[in-house]
Amino acid sequence: MSKINLSQQGIKNTKQRKCVLEVLEEANSPIDAMEILNRVNEKGVKMWISTIYRILEIFTEKGIVIKNTFFGEEKATYELNKHKHTHYARCLSCKKILEIDLCPMESFIPTVKDEKFYITGHRLEMYGYCDKCNKKRG
Ligand SMILES: [Zn+2]
Ligand SMILES: [Zn+2]
Repeated sequence: MSKINLSQQGIKNTKQRKCVLEVLEEANSPIDAMEILNRVNEKGVKMWISTIYRILEIFTEKGIVIKNTFFGEEKATYELNKHKHTHYARCLSCKKILEIDLCPMESFIPTVKDEKFYITGHRLEMYGYCDKCNKKRG
């Protein structure tokens, strides 16, 4: 059962939308649309990739989902908006996405030249190699 009530968000509750939501709720890291399609199909719900994109667009607009494109990647990834501050480290070799424990920006107070600036958010992304891939690199 999904914890998010789509109709409460002003989104018509269809079987397909519910299924995409479920897949996102079960994922423990950001996934791309193709991966969502695979997992939706595994659940026995048939969908076109274009339908997935349309649903993701609605979810992103409503703030249910966060869309992100990682460095060096063309494909966007999607994750449920947990309303929690999260940063990720991504392995350049196996594409594994790992959650970073703490935000190094939290205590950072920026100084901007000649002007005041009020920060409401930030993006920070780390890339490199996971332990396994790093060992393979020698
Ligand atoms: Zn790796
Ligand atoms: Zn942060």
